[in-house]
Amino acid sequence: MNVVFMGPPGAGKGTQAKFVCEKLGIPQLSTGDILRASNAAGKLPAALVQAMDTGGLVPDDVVIGLIGDRINESDCVGGALFDGFPRTVPQAEALGAMLAARGLKIDIAIAIEVPSDLLIERTVLRRTDKRTGQIYHLKYNPPPPGADVVHRADDTEESVRTRLDAYARVTSAVIPFYEEAGVLKRVDGVGAVGEVTKRVLAALGV
Ligand code: ADP
Ligand code: AMP
Repeated sequence: MNVVFMGPPGAGKGTQAKFVCEKLGIPQLSTGDILRASNAAGKLPAALVQAMDTGGLVPDDVVIGLIGDRINESDCVGGALFDGFPRTVPQAEALGAMLAARGLKIDIAIAIEVPSDLLIERTVLRRTDKRTGQIYHLKYNPPPPGADVVHRADDTEESVRTRLDAYARVTSAVIPFYEEAGVLKRVDGVGAVGEVTKRVLAALGV
């Protein structure tokens, strides 16, 4: 199954992706994670680091290239969960074309819906375990004592506001794209993590 997770920053895409990928046995393809790993390895051009840190989008050709390479890897033969990609209509079109060339398509696009006033708190208090990538929240899901966590450079209130604006202006257009394709499901992302997981799995029919 090829699945897209959509939703504004902080909606819970990464948190839910872990459970869904485990259940479906498919890899999580997060362009944000791939870009951060490339940056940590000192391989991301300075202009892209700056775009990310200030909450802007990275150019379409960069992320389309990253995903194009990634879906060629053997673990994607049974499908994949695309997390944070596509974020523009041209990215959605490119993904459709890359999958079609392999006789595949997006089977379902899940839009996780959370009101903007909750998203600032969710992102600014997000922490991620450096080693495992486990996502925590200082208030709702605090890291265990001694965990080595990082605060993302773009999880400042200013950057989050810019990202929310980019979501509203550009990324939200991907929702009607998948709605017209007949594969969109909307899921309420407010509530305990486990409750949201149940809704996501129900939307996926698994
Ligand atoms: P996204 O990948 O959509 O940006 P994350 O999955 O990283 O979002 O979640 C953002 C923050 O919100 C994290 O700190 C996470 O622990 C927290 N979070 C995720 N789901 C919930 C939820 N249902 N209720 C409260 N906090 C949540
Ligand atoms: P994320 O981890 O999904 O919140 O992404 C972090 C940042 O990486 C975003 O704010 C963008 O700067 C960049 N990014 C990730 N995915 C994309 C994408 N599909 N298109 C453009 N920029 C992206």
